[in-house]
Amino acid sequence: MIEGVRFREGAGRLCLDYLRTLRCGTVEELLDATAVAAWAEQFGPFDAVAVPRGEGRTEEAWRLRESIRSLIDSARQVTPCPAPARRTVNAAAAVPPPVPALDADARLRWRADDPVLATLSLVARDALDLISSPLLARVRQCAGTGCGALFIDSSRPGVRRWCSMNTCGNRAKKESIKARQAR
Ligand SMILES: [Zn+2]
Repeated sequence: MIEGVRFREGAGRLCLDYLRTLRCGTVEELLDATAVAAWAEQFGPFDAVAVPRGEGRTEEAWRLRESIRSLIDSARQVTPCPAPARRTVNAAAAVPPPVPALDADARLRWRADDPVLATLSLVARDALDLISSPLLARVRQCAGTGCGALFIDSSRPGVRRWCSMNTCGNRAKKESIKARQAR
């Protein structure tokens, strides 16, 4: 495991967890190729992901993220999907995903020529699936101050307001108690 790096989970879909690597829409968590590999290691099926060599991997990861966000935003607003974003996500999804193979001990091992790109392919495929599915209507934007993370509202009434009760929901609760006390 790539030491000491842990990304947030729990948005309800792989592609939405991926979007959260741009925390609050401004704080970059995928700072370099090491961070991109660490994300792939945490969210992909591989035991370990080597940091890819070569330039451009980080920019590629950012472009995919920006494109997924733009496709989800336009689909939620029922406006046409921007062509450049569509091309970027379609191309990422066209990369072969991780391939399973059973080893001699009956354990499943996942393989890919490029584990980072294969994991990003899973992210892109997940985004395409979400955008074209009825579940899109369950995508919400967190009401937490400065958060804005997208998540799937799987609550039965469909009125969930925060990405997580542990962070944004708790903060909002504390803020409203404080406001009440100040009155
Ligand atoms: Zn939030």
